[in-house]
Formats: sequence, structure tokens, C-alpha cells
Amino acid sequence: MEDKLIGKRVDVLDKGWIELVDLMPHPASDVSGDLAIVNAARVSFLGESKGPGRDKRLLFYLLRHRHTSPFEMVEFKFRVRAPLVTWWQWVRHRTWNMNAQSGRYTPFQESDFYVPDTWRRQSKDNKQASEGSLGPAESDELTEKLLRHYDEGFRLYTEALDLGVSKEMARLFLPGFSVYYTWVTKIDAHNLMHFLRLRMARDAQYEIRVFAGAIHEHFFQPALPWTAEAFDKYILKNE
Ligand SMILES: Cc1cc2nc3c(=O)[nH]c(=O)nc-3n(C[C@H](O)[C@H](O)[C@H](O)COP(=O)(O)OP(=O)(O)OC[C@H]3O[C@@H](n4cnc5c(N)ncnc54)[C@H](O)[C@@H]3O)c2cc1C
Repeated sequence: MEDKLIGKRVDVLDKGWIELVDLMPHPASDVSGDLAIVNAARVSFLGESKGPGRDKRLLFYLLRHRHTSPFEMVEFKFRVRAPLVTWWQWVRHRTWNMNAQSGRYTPFQESDFYVPDTWRRQSKDNKQASEGSLGPAESDELTEKLLRHYDEGFRLYTEALDLGVSKEMARLFLPGFSVYYTWVTKIDAHNLMHFLRLRMARDAQYEIRVFAGAIHEHFFQPALPWTAEAFDKYILKNE
């Protein structure tokens, strides 16, 4: 397995990131994540590893036939920093355990706002989606307006705090969808695959898709190479 997977942090969006805090089985363990899945499946008939070739075939068989419980034996714990627009979509997935930063406790900083590098246009045939983007001149103008909006929201937030208003109320002045949040979150490999399938899809919003893509590329694949191969084949490509 890749060295130093635990503690690895990948930048996502302009100020966001995702970091692997912990993994079970631990990378230093004798048993890899893929093998933990195979060994769990073999408990059904009280056996263990039968060598890499047969183990990998068994793992592929499990995923192809949606025998999913052995995949719950592997767990990932992440720290994530993402805008609230990402958070709201993420928390709809009830299979993640979560603990989040408290805006009632920790004051927000001037730099805590998401600034997109492109303005996507409304899709014509999907009311939820976007396609294409504004040209550079229109984009720059809109970004400037967004920054002014953030400055004003943050100025009013600070003014309210200075008046002695509580953090839980002063935050009403902050632009709601764009403020960056940090949370710790944990999930098993079976439910992670469900999340990745939905949130790596083209119809998922870009601001969550990039996080799902980062998990897939930088953590899921290195931690579980056989599982990732089977996931790509049977779930993403539906072969
Ligand atoms: C492209 C896209 C657009 C979306 N648009 C909207 C929208 O417009 N409005 C909106 O409200 N949501 C929207 N969602 C969120 C979506 O409806 C789901 O809430 C979200 O994707 C989580 O999916 P899930 O319930 O399968 O996942 P999880 O909550 O992670 O659950 C995983 C699986 O566990 C099972 N499960 C978990 N909890 C329960 C339970 N209590 N009862 C029964 N089974 C359970 C289900 O089989 C479920 O599929 C959208 C999602 C996507 C990907």
C-alpha cells in the first residue's frame, strides 16, 4: 500500500481539502484492506486467504453479485474542509458518521468563502444541472461582485460580533452556501462505494463531485486496489 496514506491531504476547490485521518485495517497491519474483505467473506465457511489469485477472484465475485457485507469490514475516517453547498449534499448520505465544526463556537474568517474559478451556465435540459460556462469578461465581473458580497457579509458579521451579538446569530449575515466548513467523518467501504457512485456521476454537482473524485483517486484506489478495480468494472461501468 502507498506510504503515508494516513495523514495524506489533498487540496480540493480553492480552499478546501480532504485528509485521511484513519483507516481500518491500518496500513501497517499484516492484512490489507482487500484481504480483510476476502477474509470476512471466507468466515462463511471458516477459511482464510488462499493466495492472491483466488483471493482477488473471490473479491470480484462478491462485488459482482452484490454480496456487500464483507466490504463493510473496511473503514475510512476523513477530515474534510468544503463549502456548505457541498456539506448539505454530503449529509444526505446517512451512512457517514459525522462531527462538524460549530459556527456557534468558532468564529469564521474573512478567507472562509468559496470563490469558484468558473461560472457554469444553467443546463437547458436538466433543471438541476449546469453546462458550459460564462465567458472570461462576464466571469471576472461576476467574481468581483461575489467578492464584494462576501466582504459586505463579513463586515456585517464582524459588526454584529463587535456589538456583542452571539456567534450563533451573527452568522446570519454570512453568505450561506459558500462559507467553508470542516468536519470529521467516517464510513465503511460498502457505503463509500454507494456515495462515490452517486457523487462521481456527471449529474452530481461539481462542488461535491470533485471531493468524491479525490476520495476515489487518492484514498479508495490506493487503500483498496482490488476493490477499486471491481468497483470501476461492475458498478461504474456496469459490466
Ligand atoms: C444528482 C442528485 C440529485 C439530488 N437531488 C435531490 C433533491 O433535489 N432533493 C433532495 O432532497 N435530495 C436530493 N438528492 C439526495 C438523494 O435523494 C439522497 O438523499 C442522497 O443521494 C443519499 O442517498 P441514499 O439515501 O441512497 O444514501 P444513504 O443515506 O447513504 O443511504 C444508503 C442506503 O442505505 C439505505 N438507507 C439508509 N437509511 C435508510 C433509511 N432510514 N430507510 C431506508 N433505507 C435507508 C438505502 O438503501 C440507501 O440507498 C440528490 C442526490 C443526487 C446524487
